[in-house]
Amino acid sequence: VNMTSRVTSQKNTGVPGVKNIIAVASGKGGVGKSTVSVNLALALSKTGAKVGLIDADIYGPSIPIMFGLENERPKATQENGKTRIEPIEKFGIKLLSIGFFTDPNQPVPWRGPMVSTAVKQLFNDADWGELDYLVVDLPPGTGDIHITVTQSFPVTGAVIVTTPQNVALADAKKGIGMFMMPAINVPIMGVVENMAYFTPEELPDNKYYIFGQGGGKKLAEILDVPFLGEIPLIKGISDSGDAGRPIVLDEDSVMTTAFMEMARRVAQQV
Ligand code: ADP
Ligand code: MG
Repeated sequence: VNMTSRVTSQKNTGVPGVKNIIAVASGKGGVGKSTVSVNLALALSKTGAKVGLIDADIYGPSIPIMFGLENERPKATQENGKTRIEPIEKFGIKLLSIGFFTDPNQPVPWRGPMVSTAVKQLFNDADWGELDYLVVDLPPGTGDIHITVTQSFPVTGAVIVTTPQNVALADAKKGIGMFMMPAINVPIMGVVENMAYFTPEELPDNKYYIFGQGGGKKLAEILDVPFLGEIPLIKGISDSGDAGRPIVLDEDSVMTTAFMEMARRVAQQV
């Protein structure tokens, strides 16, 4: 597969100063979208790019916890009747999450149009400055938020996260199908196989294929989209997410190498 041919140089994202919007999606929940979004964003930033991250998972925002920013509230000002939101900056990334504006202890009982307005505000009303990449962590599935984001902004490309398990692959296929629909038409930058195998900390050379082997790679081959790499199920990844210090920040981790390679494959396509 010629990975450079899929995404035509897309420099008008509809968000002033933002060169590329990268949507991270999956069919199923809990497969590692947020983990991939966060570490991919940081990996892109480590290559020297200016990176922003939007957590658009309105019903289950994870970015505040993963960056250790649970109690942060972005500054918002009114200017000539317009709201300006200041993204929060951490580890060199500019961040906004729906979670910064809602009570973490309360469910979000919003209907479609409200959700749509809120998500658009994260793009339009924030001072993103100059960004090479704005990574968007989407909710699972193919719902309102996906339609809002892809219809409101020319998304440069989508990164699809799946586990090797059949139920996840089937949903990932639907997710890919949605982006490929003529009315949506977002190029698929590739598939990430997360939880590709399990490696216990005390047996680092052992690989257990608990969700099956190679399913994500196979899906990429069948659909003729790039494969962006496999990420094992390791305790360090969930621990670092909960601790608010994503694993890519750890120079010694083998995961850093894997996410840097993923970032390289994404950067190749813009
Ligand atoms: P999603 O955004 O798709 O719902 P998350 O990124 O929140 O998924 O991941 C779901 C849970 O699995 C989180 O607790 C996360 O820390 C954990 N997790 C994700 N990927 C891995 C991995 N490769 N190894 C270990 N834990 C992981
Ligand atoms: Mg998530």
